[in-house]
Amino acid sequence: MVVYLVGAGPGDPDLITLKAVKVLKDADVVIYDRLANDEILKYAEKADLIYVGKKAGEHYKTQCEINQILIDEAQKNEIVVRLKGGDPFVFGRGGEEMLALLEKNIPVETVPGLTSAVGVPTAAGLPVTHRGVATSLTIVTGHEDPTKGETQVKWDFKADTIIILMGVGRLEDNTRKLMMYKDPDTPVCVIENGTMPNERIITDTLENISKKDIKSPALVIVGNVVDIFKKAQYFNKDQLF
Ligand code: SAH
Repeated sequence: MVVYLVGAGPGDPDLITLKAVKVLKDADVVIYDRLANDEILKYAEKADLIYVGKKAGEHYKTQCEINQILIDEAQKNEIVVRLKGGDPFVFGRGGEEMLALLEKNIPVETVPGLTSAVGVPTAAGLPVTHRGVATSLTIVTGHEDPTKGETQVKWDFKADTIIILMGVGRLEDNTRKLMMYKDPDTPVCVIENGTMPNERIITDTLENISKKDIKSPALVIVGNVVDIFKKAQYFNKDQLF
């Protein structure tokens, strides 16, 4: 009995790790939620697949219900894989699942994945740090768990580059808070469906980006590194939206 907490990478199925492929091949059960790309599940040749994400017309499974499914499946099977988009510990609630399993004396192994926070900008040709431009990086959630009842994010970040995950729904509010500490002209890049065939890249300023039509899943990158991306685009002659 073991549960592998596995990162699936940001979307492009070629960006999964060899280790993740290995454990998927051996898995008896794979428990997954909405992944950027379901193609990755093909590696789970002999596993039962259990979807615990959002389904049209049904309620979200609560984290508590998901933890219980993980515990039940671990007690019935040799190898359980809990597959998550990106890296399991970057806003994936992987830490909570790990602790819930360990509390029941179920062994847990973690397999890192390429987080979208860095993998998506890099795949697009946007360096998240750059000598002389950005020496520090903050990754923040744009959507704190509403059940927490309090906000922890102050938006007064000192880092040169800010990457917002889950930032589409509250983009206007979050950019307004950022403008209390950052120049409204700071360049911003939004990458929708990064590393996927339907990827869309939108650039604007901190002040104006929230006026653009943006759909989830998307990453918001704030900082002067966006200018490095634009320079690279100029050389590549890629089409910007
Ligand atoms: N554990 C994941 C993040 C989970 S939070 C990771 O490490 O990547 C989900 C958020 O990740 C989305 O709201 C979006 O902001 C971002 N995201 C995940 N995949 C993405 C993709 N292919 N393109 C753009 N953003 C993505």
